Order: sequence, then C-alpha cells, then structure tokens
Amino acid sequence: MLYKNILRFWAQMGNKKKLAVSWVTFACCEDSTILFVELLNQHFFEWKEKIDFRYCPVLKERGNSFEGSDVTFVEGAIATKEDEAKLKEIREKSKRLVAIGSCACTGLPSAQRNTFDESTKREIMIVVERFGHLEKVHPIKEIVKVDYQVPGCPMDERIFLETLAKLFAEFGVE
Ligand code: SF4
Repeated sequence: MLYKNILRFWAQMGNKKKLAVSWVTFACCEDSTILFVELLNQHFFEWKEKIDFRYCPVLKERGNSFEGSDVTFVEGAIATKEDEAKLKEIREKSKRLVAIGSCACTGLPSAQRNTFDESTKREIMIVVERFGHLEKVHPIKEIVKVDYQVPGCPMDERIFLETLAKLFAEFGVE
C-alpha cells in the first residue's frame, strides 16, 4: 500500500521525458520482482524523475497497460498457450524487451518438467492438458525477439542497473 501511494505522488511529478516501463511476470517465483521493488529503497528519488510505469501491477492497481511501453521487463518462463499469446502481444507493444532472471533467459528452473523421465511426464500429463500448458516450458527468446538479458536467480542487480542505464541513454532520458 505504501508503494502504491508513493506511485500516485510519482505520477504527479513534472513533464520531463521519462522512460515508459512495463514489468510483467510469467511462470516463476517472482523473486526478481521483489528485488526490483526493494531497489526503490535506494533509487526512488532518481527513478521518479525518469520512469513512467505503464503496466506494473505490483506498484499500481489501476491503469495498467502495455500501450506505449518503451521497454518491458519480462520475468519468468512461458508455460501455457495463454502466456505465449500474451508475450507476443507485449512484444508488439514494446520497443524493447528485457528478459529478467534465469527462468526468462534460459527457462530454468521453471522448465524442470522438460527433463522429466517418460513415466513422470505421463503422471503430469493430466494437468498439462487440462490447464492449457505447452508441451515444454520455454525461455522467452524461443517465442519472441529479446533485446537484453539480465541473468541470475534472482536477477543480477548490477546487470539490471547497467541495462536500465543503457535504456535511459538509448531513449534520451537524463
Ligand atoms: S530465475 Fe530464480 S528467482 Fe527468478 S523467477 Fe526463476 S526461480 Fe525465481
């Protein structure tokens, strides 16, 4: 709740050019999302001048939309047909796409079922079919073009900050 109030204040700040950022999570444990929110403890006053959040349910309840996103950070692997379609739509609406964390970059550890033996795969087939899961769990680069990757489990904080700095420079946000 505290962060949501802070974000409202943030949205009322000046009209300087800002980076339009979205943050979305697919199949994973969301630890990189927690790390990102924790980073606000050190970076809030800098980022409030530089970032306009478009789709970010962890920070705002209303008005979440990928429309006009300069960059979307994508956490997690793609495990269902619904998520595959959503990722393709996000790619169309985002100028840059960044894979966040090992699950998004490589599939693992979310993709462990890909390597199950045949008998274990048969045991989980009922769930796979019933809930529209894909035959395999995919890193996002197998579904759409990825511009940057931030590896780590959870994401490497230093690489994330370097990537964000590159994006600020690329989009002329000072
Ligand atoms: S990469 Fe690790 S921390 Fe990130 S979502 Fe996957 S399991 Fe969780």
